[in-house]
Amino acid sequence: MVLENLSDSLKESMRRLFKGVLIDPKLIGDLVSDIKKSLIASDVNIELATKLAESIRKRALAEKASKTLTAREHTVNIVYEELVKFLGSEFEPIKIEAQPTKILLVGLFGSGKTTTAGKLAKYYKKQGLKVCLVQTDTWRPAAYEQLSQLAAKVNVPFYGIRDEKDPIKILKKFEPDFSRFNVVIVDSAGRDALNRELTEEIKRVREFLKPHESLLVLSGDIGQGALKQAQAFQSTANVTGMIISKLDGTAKGGGAISACAATGAKVKFIGVGEHIDDFEEYKPKNFVSRLLGMGDLETLLQKAQGAIKKDEAEKLAKKVLKGDMNLEDLYKQLESLQKMGPLSQIMNMIPGMGMAKIPKELLETQGEKMKFWKFVIQSMTSEEKEHPEIINSKRIARIAKGSGRPESDVRELIKQYNQMKKMMKTLGNAKQMQKLQKMFGGKLPPGLGI
Ligand code: GDP
Ligand code: MG
Repeated sequence: MVLENLSDSLKESMRRLFKGVLIDPKLIGDLVSDIKKSLIASDVNIELATKLAESIRKRALAEKASKTLTAREHTVNIVYEELVKFLGSEFEPIKIEAQPTKILLVGLFGSGKTTTAGKLAKYYKKQGLKVCLVQTDTWRPAAYEQLSQLAAKVNVPFYGIRDEKDPIKILKKFEPDFSRFNVVIVDSAGRDALNRELTEEIKRVREFLKPHESLLVLSGDIGQGALKQAQAFQSTANVTGMIISKLDGTAKGGGAISACAATGAKVKFIGVGEHIDDFEEYKPKNFVSRLLGMGDLETLLQKAQGAIKKDEAEKLAKKVLKGDMNLEDLYKQLESLQKMGPLSQIMNMIPGMGMAKIPKELLETQGEKMKFWKFVIQSMTSEEKEHPEIINSKRIARIAKGSGRPESDVRELIKQYNQMKKMMKTLGNAKQMQKLQKMFGGKLPPGLGI
């Protein structure tokens, strides 16, 4: 997942907190220093991390738990609230009111502007809005091709002039067309640094385009270096919000996000992969609950909407969490989940799953294997599907023959089924977790029973 290392170490701190017998100043002291260490390892500025740790410690020692929470839950809640404050605040979506709403993307070379332009176009198109993409990067020779290919992929109109040197000429030519759209997304040229040339160019484009939003695209791998870059662009380019890209491939993302939050600018979106769908609204509350292993059903359901219907997704989540499934259910669940993206990403969004230690092989089971599983399951009798425990070596040999798959495939399927079932049982027993999830937003879909 995004910020995997930070998340793993925060989850470990949470686990230790749950295991601790007594919530006393020593335990709180250990917790706070663990959290601080985790943040610094994620390239968070030391001063900022120390300040955060101190405010958690102060609150945890001073505040009394309310009647509905145990001391432990109260402490977790403080960690959660302080981290949310630290990594942003409330999410405010970009208002699409003006017709058209013009969004300009700015940033340095390689920060992910063009990729993000494509992702953003898809994001708005999914909402049923009319979107177009405009290329004003006349600096990089391949920029025209790159964005026009992305536009074709998303299936939105593309505007650009190959070999034109002046971005204003491009904007002038196509401006009359813009009024046909709800959202006009304009990509721009970068440089290696925010030098005078780039500042001037952005200024000219801004003056002509009059964008409603100027979003700075920053690469997450610059860590706390994001602070300087963000400040520089803010003072010269009237940045209205930020997008942090490449959070999937860096251990420094915590530094980038906290640095941006420290400037007071709002992070609107995050890029979490090279693919056009690897893009999320940045909602600090959801983000932090995922980091802590508390799940993020809202984002999960959003993702699910593209793949399966909302009520189906809710039913699915409910079944997965209940854990009373047979082999066919398991197959169906894995199949629907796969439509939403890699299982490892999805699991982190289901409450409780993030904290559970899920076998890596299970998460990595992808398309090919699933196809074989289907054949294997189809070759089983109803009794075997309902009660996989009766499957002995004789039956395995028969199933393998019937499905045309090696016996090892059958054995592997049964092994993974057993692992999954065992894991679900552990989760079902985790009463502590269930209580906690109630605290975290209470936004769980009805009927989920936690
Ligand atoms: P630009 O120069 O600012 O327009 O940057 P590009 O959009 O061309 O991106 C530069 C490189 O970063 C490309 O190879 C992209 O595939 C990659 N990239 C962009 N966003 C992401 C992201 O969120 N995750 C990952 N892993 N790669 C990304
Ligand atoms: Mg570009």
